[in-house]
Amino acid sequence: MDKDAKHKASMEKQKTNVDASIAAADTDKSLVVLLTGNGKGKTSSAFGMVMRAMGYGQRVGIVQFIKGEQLSGEELFARENLPQSDFYQMGTGFTWDTQDRQADIDAAQRTWHEASRMLTDPNYDLVILDELTYMLAFGYLSESEVIGTVDGRPPHQSVVITGRGGGAALQDLADTVSEVKDVKHAFNAGVKARKGVDY
Ligand code: ATP
Ligand code: MG
Repeated sequence: MDKDAKHKASMEKQKTNVDASIAAADTDKSLVVLLTGNGKGKTSSAFGMVMRAMGYGQRVGIVQFIKGEQLSGEELFARENLPQSDFYQMGTGFTWDTQDRQADIDAAQRTWHEASRMLTDPNYDLVILDELTYMLAFGYLSESEVIGTVDGRPPHQSVVITGRGGGAALQDLADTVSEVKDVKHAFNAGVKARKGVDY
């Protein structure tokens, strides 16, 4: 068999397998997606889904549970282009080197209040809970409350949760779990975080 014929046969076989898998996936339901792991790409993937959903005119709610050193491009974009009520950023100074535990807990609870409002509002088709896993890891939010609220969301609403770790209960709840593996990151070679790529 020449190269072209071989390629054609292989593609035909692949198509048969893919078509069979597509036909077998006949459940139509909303999803919980957990993006975890130590590599770069979790938050940016979540915002890829924001763009995707908005392309279909879906209503999206975004909640970020950690305030970075500087405003992120996604926050700047959302402030300009999304109605303010759809984007909630924890703000109030939560950073990695915070010293005030009680203030962090209060900020986490305030932010969760906003998230649970979205998770009970059927007007949202997609809710992003960016960096939520840290709030669970630190014990700032109740895992059972978070899981119960996400599980009890409006039936058509999908949820994307990002952050390292996340725990077994969250993984059990999620329909799709991706672990982004850190193979190499420029920061470890001394390269500064890059505007538009890293933030
Ligand atoms: P991104 O927002 O780029 O999708 P992320 O959400 O997967 O990244 P986070 O753990 O939330 O990653 O960290 C956010 C910031 O830290 C980003 O600027 C990202 O480039 C950087 N970062 C992510 N992973 C690593 C890593 N393994 N080493 C160093 N810096 C990292
Ligand atoms: Mg992130």
